[in-house]
Formats: sequence, C-alpha cells, structure tokens
Amino acid sequence: MARLTAFPAFHKVSGRTVLIVGSGAAAAAKARLLGETDARLRIVAEAPGDELLGDAARLGAEVLHARFDVAHLDDVALAFAATEDETEDRRIADAARLARVPVNVVDRPELCDFTTPALVNRAPLAVAIGTDGAAPVLARHVRARVEAMLSPELGRLTSLAESLRGAVADMIPHGEARRRFWAKLFDGPVAARALSGDVAGARAEAVRMMSAEPDVAGFVWLVGAGPGATDLLTLRAQRVLQEADVIVHDALVPPDLIAMGRRDAHRISVGKRKGRHEVTQGEIGEILVREAKAGRRVVRLKGGDPMVFGRVGEEMAALSAAGVPHEIVPGVTAAFAAAASAKAPLTLRGLSSSLVFATGHDLDGRTLPDWAGLALGGATVAVYMGRTVAGAVAERLVEAGLSLDTPVAAVENASRADETIFAGTLRDLPALADRGDVTGPVLILIGRALAEAEQVDAAPIVPETARRTSAA
Ligand code: SAH
Repeated sequence: MARLTAFPAFHKVSGRTVLIVGSGAAAAAKARLLGETDARLRIVAEAPGDELLGDAARLGAEVLHARFDVAHLDDVALAFAATEDETEDRRIADAARLARVPVNVVDRPELCDFTTPALVNRAPLAVAIGTDGAAPVLARHVRARVEAMLSPELGRLTSLAESLRGAVADMIPHGEARRRFWAKLFDGPVAARALSGDVAGARAEAVRMMSAEPDVAGFVWLVGAGPGATDLLTLRAQRVLQEADVIVHDALVPPDLIAMGRRDAHRISVGKRKGRHEVTQGEIGEILVREAKAGRRVVRLKGGDPMVFGRVGEEMAALSAAGVPHEIVPGVTAAFAAAASAKAPLTLRGLSSSLVFATGHDLDGRTLPDWAGLALGGATVAVYMGRTVAGAVAERLVEAGLSLDTPVAAVENASRADETIFAGTLRDLPALADRGDVTGPVLILIGRALAEAEQVDAAPIVPETARRTSAA
C-alpha cells in the first residue's frame, strides 16, 4: 500500500485564536476557510484589501492593520502566512516555528507544518480531502463529488446522533449490539426522517429503536470477491463488508479488497495456496461457526465467485449443521474476467453454444475428463487451476479428438494491475506449465469461439526464445 507523507487529523480550534497574516486574496481565502470553524480569527494585514475587509466583517474577525510581529502569535492555535511575499512569509513561518505554533504558508508546501484539505462541511460532520500536495485541483474535483453524495441535512443526523450518545451508552451494552444499533440508525427510518428535515420524528423513532430488543444473532455471508480488481467487487459485497465484524479470507484475495472492510473488523487469513494448506476446510467451517455463534457478523471472502471451485459446499454444510443463518453473495468468476481481458466471447452464435467450467486439478490417471467430449461438441472450456497441468489438459483434449489448432487464451492475474494475456493454440498450451515467469493464478480458455477474440495485447504462449531453440 502506498503511504501518506502527512497524517490527516482534525485540529481543535473552538474558542481559540487562529492567526492569518496577509492583505490580499490568499489571506481572504484562508479567512473564509477558517470561517467554517468557530475559531477566533486574528487577521494581521499591512494594507487589507476590500475582499479581505468584507470577509473579516462578515466573519466577525479581528483585523490588525500592522506588519507581522511575534507578539501576534500569542495564544495562537494555528498560523497562516498568506502575504504572497516570500521573504515575509518565511519570516512568519520561522517565528511561528520558534513559538511552536503549527504554520501553513500559502503555496509553499516546503514551509508548511500542515496543509489545508478541500473541505465538505456538514458540521458536526466534516470530510477533508487532501492529495499530499500532489494535485490540489483533483482534491477539489473529488470534493465536488462528495458534496453531491452527502445530503445537506447530514449535519442534522450527526447532531441527533451526538445528542443520543449518552442515552445509548446507558441503554445498549458496549460492543456488537451498540455498533449494530448505530448502523441501523444511520441507514433506516431515523436517517430518512432526519434527512428530510423531521428531526423530532427521527428522535422519536430512535428512542423507540433503543428500547426494542437488541439484535445480536450471528450471520455469515459467503462472498465472492471477484478476480482481484477492487471495482469488480459487487455493491452488495461492498455493503456486507462494511457490516462485517469478522472477515475470513483466502490467500487469493488481494489485500486491497480485504482492506475494504471496516477498519476495526477482525481479519482471519485462512491462506490456502497451491501445495500449502495451512488451514483445513474443516477448520474453516469451525471458525465460521464459532464466530457466528459468538454473535458476530462474518464475511467469508473468497476469490471470484464462491460457487465456482470455491469449496463453499462444505462451508454451507457446516453452517447449516450448526444452525447458523447464511447467505451467498455472488462474484465475478475468473473465467469472465479472463474473457473480458482477452476480449474473447465465450459463446458465439453458430460456433459455440455452451460453456464448461472445468478444473485441471484432478486430471490424474489416463481417463478422459467428462468435459473433453463437451469440448469436442463445440463447448468453450474455461480451465481453472490448470497452469501446472497445462500439458495434461492439452493431451486429454487432443486424445478426445480436438484439433491441435484449436485457439487458446490464457490470462494470468486477470483484472489485476499485473495481468498478462497469452494467446496460441492447443499445440502451444503445454509450454505454459514450463514458463518460470508465469507464477500468478491463470485461467485457460479453450475453444473455437476464441478465434473471434480481439487479442491485441496478447503475448505468445510459447516464449520467442523457446520457439527459436526448438526450430533449430
Ligand atoms: N472461485 C474462484 C476460483 C477458485 S479456484 C472463481 O470463481 O474465480 C482458483 C483458480 O481460479 C486459480 O487456479 C485460477 O485458475 C483461477 N483464478 C482465480 N483468480 C484469477 C485471476 N485473477 N486470474 C486468472 N485466474 C484466476
């Protein structure tokens, strides 16, 4: 994860003095920004312009017609240098630093102890947006979108919540029940009323909710996380992730997706990777049952779609046997992500009218897999877990009668930043297993429909070097 160079925090200024030095538009802009708070504003300006004087009068700020002097820093919580004169701004910044007052110098990030975010104000709720100085215009752009997302009345709901805090603390035990009460409050009829301006109605509804039976039953969602790209997560998956107290995830699910849950959610890795089963399927079932029985809301996050080679059947059976209510949230399975990446249709009128989800994993022995016949009949085959057994997959299909020239696409890390697309034919496929440079999850697509793929960015399955060697 990329790291920030500044830590976002909210600085208390209520009833305290904030100093702004400068006479022009930059100082006026800072005055308006600080005017969103109830800080006392002290403006030091040698020759205050009309804009600044107008804003100062409207905001009830004190204006001192003077050149900056260290005495102006007395009792100051934060200082802003906005004289638009480099030497003067630097002098102010140095003085503030000596006086241990955090200082911001307009347009001089190197002189700043802190920077000011783009602000969405729904007091007492606030959203501060920063880009670490990288792109202030982008911050404003994001602010416009956040402004549009948040009802102007959100402040009322926030204030209502604040006024209920004491009563909630007395009536609802700390922990799960309380968190769930708040989640319901912000998402149900209370929120609807407060946001439509009916604060009294919202309060009455909240009081009714407080005295109702607390809802502490555990629950498990078996959630498809999709192939890896965060924006291929479904909205439902995103919502339940926000509700989960516990997230139980596989090794195949990228950290970005796991991070999308609540920050305080407990995360349990049951990392299963090829050849390294750290937690058995039985143990996973036990973990899910144990957490749900403790009254927690559990998300079991699985790569792709949980119902496709996800061994979800065993987990559902464990939950049912223990009487734990559960639901499935579908996800984008790897075959679909791979087809999208390779721009390859999976069915094609007149050429291929069925699709097989197959695994290369259990190709032991000499028997033809049951799907080989379907491939011969024209089905497109999506092979999961097929990389290391690519040779056996190709061999069985050719044995079944498929042409060596049948088109193949293989996508490694489909939908992720490090995705690679390979294209070739059944003749090339065995080479995939020998490639030391292919180490991520690979989905193999085989069938005539793939001839229609727009494989613009595809690399050959057989690397150029190997091709030359075998030709020699
Ligand atoms: N339930 C998952 C599949 C789990 S089996 C789903 O619906 O996608 C694991 C196999 O899925 C891997 O061996 C690989 O074949 C495939 N796979 C999962 N994610 C993938 C990705 N991002 N790119 C390519 N293949 C992937």
